[in-house]
Order: sequence, then structure tokens, then C-alpha cells
Amino acid sequence: VEAKFYRDTWAEINLDHISYNVSETLRLLPENTKLFAVVKANAYGHGDVQVAKAAVEAGAQGLAVAFLDEALSVKRAGLSVPLLVLGASSPQAAKMAADRQISLTVFQKDWLLEAEKHLEEGQLLRVHIKCDTGMGRLGVKTPEELNELAAFIHRSPKFFLEGVFTHFATADDLSTDYFEEQYGLFASMVDSLEEKPPFTHCANSAATLRFGKTHLNAVRLGISMYGLSPSEEIKQELPFPLKQSFSLRTRIVHVKKLKKGEKISYGATYETSEEEWIATLPIGYADGWLRKLQGQIVLAGGKRVPIVGRVCMDQCMIRLPEEMPVGTEVTLIGKQGEEEITMDDIARKMETINYEVPCIITARVPRIYK
Ligand code: PLP
Repeated sequence: VEAKFYRDTWAEINLDHISYNVSETLRLLPENTKLFAVVKANAYGHGDVQVAKAAVEAGAQGLAVAFLDEALSVKRAGLSVPLLVLGASSPQAAKMAADRQISLTVFQKDWLLEAEKHLEEGQLLRVHIKCDTGMGRLGVKTPEELNELAAFIHRSPKFFLEGVFTHFATADDLSTDYFEEQYGLFASMVDSLEEKPPFTHCANSAATLRFGKTHLNAVRLGISMYGLSPSEEIKQELPFPLKQSFSLRTRIVHVKKLKKGEKISYGATYETSEEEWIATLPIGYADGWLRKLQGQIVLAGGKRVPIVGRVCMDQCMIRLPEEMPVGTEVTLIGKQGEEEITMDDIARKMETINYEVPCIITARVPRIYK
């Protein structure tokens, strides 16, 4: 692929790893269970169109995003599988969604009344009713509310009830009590429906990989499709080794030998304790490579080296064990030779979860695909 950028920093997205994670997951699912690839937030920072295509080619039979705008972006992939907006949409957006055959999530009667007005005669909007079984975010909370919405949808010629779903708050915890509570409530809500929609779904990555009973007839696979574990705790019980897709790389743009006692970066917080080789990298917090990453280990010339001094907006510095040439490739996330920096390593240093890391690598960092 010809690169259309000039900077020496890029994210490398391995689409074969996405395909592998999807096909290995499909092997765990019953034949009639469909896999929806979750490609919201620009596919967790990996690139929505590219990931959607790779996932569908690998056997995903549906796609899910958070917002209608994201669904419209994913539509550029030209795929014909069902595409579901998981978050709230405005009722005014119903017409656009129906025009593009995008399914929306619903959970309020007033929303349906309002959306109905915006839909033209003969238009049909596919909807999934969201049940709040304990996430406390979106959804109807009782079988009565669920049945009321379902009845309204069945009566209206403008809506088609395509699905009913819920979302787990703790499927990635070792303790399963709360998960079981949510699962039980969802099962009873679905049970209470006289007419079942084509899709009933509840499983995120953690539930898909850990609890076969949650597969129902569709699962929504996000984080593990990207090769990342839903949590540190459940890493040991994953049914197959996930393959991380996202790598972050840059190249040394300047190298110098400093004397003992010289200072590095804003605040002059780092001082050389002897003669040291210091290199400059063209990546900083405006790329999502946050100031918290001061002290983080990266890979240069196959060696583990630390970031020294504060991370600047566009640059940061590393200490080399020896002189290395300008242009030397540096891996910030991913493999280099025998060494590897995982997304989890970076998440730990940033005191967050792996989900957040690729999401906050900003659009200034070009994504290249292999
Ligand atoms: N379903 C919903 C409603 C979500 O919000 C998300 C992501 O947060 C997912 C599925 C995918 O979850 P995961 O990335 O843990 O697989």
C-alpha cells in the first residue's frame, strides 16, 4: 500500500489478526448464532471500513456501532450485512436510518411516537429494543415495558422488530454473580415476549468467550476481535490465544550524546546520570501518546529502552544503550524482534484499560493496513 503521509509515526493494523480472531470465535458459536463485529469508535481506533470488511470476509454476519454517523461511515464499506446502532439516536434520524437500511436501538415509547412522524409512508425502520438488566445505561427495565414497546412496534406499519438485547456490566469479572443476575433477568424478559424477534443478543466479547449459554442467536464481538483481552483477570481462561492487531511505530529523528548532568524536556525533570545517548521521537500527547507515558519502555533496534523526561505535544525522548542512526524504527506498541510491548503494558502505565489505548491514538497518526 502506498503511504499518503510524510510523518515518521504510524499505526500498523494487521487485518489478518482481525480475521483470525473472528474465525476462531465463530468456531465457538453454534451454527445458527450470528457474529456482529463491533466497529464503533472507528473500530476502537483501528479503522472502521477496513475492519468491517475484514470481519465480514472472515464470517461476521452483522456489524454494530454506537452512533448513526458511525453507521453512515461504515456503509462506505459497501457491505450488505445488518448494521445496528447500539446507542441512542434522535427520532429525527429515523428517516435517514430507514433510507440506508440501518437498524436503530429503541427503549422509549415517546421516541417511537416521534420517529413515526419522521418516517414516510411505506418506509420501514428496523429496531432492536434494549433492555437494562443492570448496566444502568439505556433500556427498558421490566417485561411489561418491553411488551408495551413490542406491541407498539408490531402495530405500526413503519417499524419492524428485528431484535431484543441487553449488555453486561461484569462479564469480564472472575466473580459471576452479577452477570448471572443480569442474564437471568434478560432470559425472563425475552421469555415474556409472545413473538420472538429474529435476533436476541446479549454477549459482548467476555461473555462470548466464557459463557456459551449467552450465545443465543447473535453475539456482539468488540475488544477480542482486536486481539485484546476484555480484562486482565480472565486472560487465563480465554479459549484461544488472541492476536493483537494494533501496533504503533515511529522512527528516530535525532540522536545526540549528552554529558553527565544535562537535562531533558519541559520542567527539566530528567537529568543524565552519566554520558548518555538520547534520541528524539516524533510522537507526543497530541497523538494520544500521553504524558503519563513518561518512563514507559519502548523498543528501539530490538532493545527495551525508556522514555525520559516529559512527553511533549508532538515529540518525546528515549535513552539509548548505544548510538543508533536517525531513521531507526521504534516500536511503541507491538512486536519488534523477540521483544513485545502489549496494549496491556501501555494501559497499565496509563492506569486505564486496553480499550482506551487505541481509541485515544488520534487521527493525526495514519493507520496503515497489512
Ligand atoms: N455491545 C454494546 C452495547 C457495547 O457497548 C459494547 C462495547 O462497549 C459491545 C457490545 C462490545 O463489547 P466488548 O468490546 O467488550 O466486546
